[in-house]
Amino acid sequence: MARNIGLDISAPATECTDLNCPFHGILPVRGQVITGKVVSDRMSTTVVVERDYLHFVRKFNRYEKRHSRFHAHNPPCINAREGDTVTIAECRPLSKTKSFVVVEVKKS
Ligand SMILES: [Zn+2]
Repeated sequence: MARNIGLDISAPATECTDLNCPFHGILPVRGQVITGKVVSDRMSTTVVVERDYLHFVRKFNRYEKRHSRFHAHNPPCINAREGDTVTIAECRPLSKTKSFVVVEVKKS
């Protein structure tokens, strides 16, 4: 049985035994919730999520494109792949650079 993670997101259809899964493990999520695109799925349980945003430059009265990258834990029950649009939620630091976990793959 999947846990309620406190976000308005339904649990994935498959189950897993990952302790660091917010639905089937014991990982609490809190803090920021971000939507982005998976740009790399080459690590075993980690994906790189990129988010584009616009930054206003006053001198030229225009926006410039910027992007930021997050490392996020990818539990086996979610299994996000490169090119997917995903929702990631902040959690405790899981490694030196990883403090987000994928909670949903958005359907296009
Ligand atoms: Zn799971």
